[in-house]
Amino acid sequence: MSPADGAGDPGTLVIHAPASGERVGEVAITTPDEVRAAIARARSAYEMWRSVPLEERCDRLLRFRDALVDRADELIEMLVKETGKPRQEALLHEVMPIVDTFTYLSRRAPVILQPKELPLHLFKHKKSVVHYVPRGVVGVISPWNFPFTIPMGDVAAALFTGSAVIVKPSEVTPLIMKLTKQIWDSTGLPADLFQVVYGRGDVGSALIDGGVQKIVFTGGVATGRKVAAACGAALVPCVMELGGKAPLIACADCDLERTARAIVWGGFANSGQVCVSVERVFAHREIYDALVERVKALTLELRQGNPERDEVEVGAMTFAPQMDVADAHVKDALGKGATLVTGGQRHQPAGAPGQFYAPTVLADCTGDMMVMRAEIFGPIVPIARVDSEEEAITRANDSHLGLNAYVFTRDRKRGEEIALRLEAGSVLVNDVLTNHATPEAPFGGVKDSGFGRVHGDDALRDMAEKRHVMTERIAAPAHDPFWYPYDAKRFKLLRKGLTTLFAGNGLVQRIASIF
Ligand code: NAD
Repeated sequence: MSPADGAGDPGTLVIHAPASGERVGEVAITTPDEVRAAIARARSAYEMWRSVPLEERCDRLLRFRDALVDRADELIEMLVKETGKPRQEALLHEVMPIVDTFTYLSRRAPVILQPKELPLHLFKHKKSVVHYVPRGVVGVISPWNFPFTIPMGDVAAALFTGSAVIVKPSEVTPLIMKLTKQIWDSTGLPADLFQVVYGRGDVGSALIDGGVQKIVFTGGVATGRKVAAACGAALVPCVMELGGKAPLIACADCDLERTARAIVWGGFANSGQVCVSVERVFAHREIYDALVERVKALTLELRQGNPERDEVEVGAMTFAPQMDVADAHVKDALGKGATLVTGGQRHQPAGAPGQFYAPTVLADCTGDMMVMRAEIFGPIVPIARVDSEEEAITRANDSHLGLNAYVFTRDRKRGEEIALRLEAGSVLVNDVLTNHATPEAPFGGVKDSGFGRVHGDDALRDMAEKRHVMTERIAAPAHDPFWYPYDAKRFKLLRKGLTTLFAGNGLVQRIASIF
């Protein structure tokens, strides 16, 4: 049974653990009227929250951070049950980054959001200040692969900037948000400031159309197109965090052991259901054979099974249809000449009757294979041989997606040079995946991977509304020379001013060089 089956009641999502099949819990689907009511309540909560000074908001939100820490074991248990990911990943990839984000923002938000005075290059008699004011109600629509850390990063940004926030979690993994909402409510913070609505795509649509002031969407490219169109029709600004097809370039001089370990961890963490998973390896021919052998050996050491046990590295597939997607990728690749190094099929670990796919390594992969072109979102690492770094860069950029990319080389300077030539939102040199957990760094994609950014100073400012306030430094004359009336004499004067100010090394240039 799919984890999101309604079990007969169309108004309920019943969730089953992907690793064991056991029933984990259920939530009632939010009706369109209830979505509208939630937005109205959020609006009232925002009216109160916006008037709370930023420093005080920071203090109050730490109460929630503390409650998350206190109840971390419950969160981890729920994440493991609902998604099938190993306990260590639930802790390190989900709970820890969010606790860190709330801690970080409580300290940094007042600095990042402080009003910014603009040094006007011409209107020296004016004072121009950009203020970052609360936006209103922010809607967050999220996927099933990181059902806690993805929405909660956006929740944090919305709350710190003074907005109210409503999350629409994936219908596949709604229970972790249900628990998170209970934890929020237990802190005494205003209940309507952070709300959750449950259901499928139609509930997400109702949120977009219901009068929110911003949408942060994370999900697939096809859904992203629909959501962006709906946001466009409603004139709601949006951030689109979509799919990835991260290339990893293994240069001839790379540290082979670290590179192999990065490929294995970056390809199989969360059973490969990560938007920044290592999805294409381009290995220089000088190290290709040794790298494939080492990746194979490390993959064979992985223990797959019930993720509730600490000694398991690879858990279950969260979303059953991804098993068919994985099969299709393997079949297509083998049909086009790839070599199956290990894996390549579903796997049934002892004592775990759920949905598992064996960590799979494919070698001799070529650009015509689906596995090198389409997002896999499963535990499959395809490796291709390249003759040069130039070829690796060209092939890495030959993709409609551009979220993360990775370069492995002992020459860090060369690594940075290659990074600048890769078409991706983030490029890591000698590392994989970890950038999503750095609240300082902007995260997002280019090309079909989306637009806008989450995390980082700019994204926090973008979560707020920019209000530009301009005042005069000295009292302005009653009769402003640039206002009415217009006449020929003044036009002549202004026309002369154009040349004086701008031609060659004109006055503007000279003023700019002084200040
Ligand atoms: P999805 O696109 O199927 O669903 C994402 C969310 O959108 C769900 O909550 C879903 O109910 C909702 N939705 C569906 N139709 C909608 C509509 N018409 N209007 C509003 N909401 C709608 O994605 P998924 O299968 O849950 O997640 C996997 C995808 O997410 C992968 O492609 C992955 O790469 C991507 N992803 C991207 C990032 C990133 O940060 N760029 C992170 C994680 C996952």
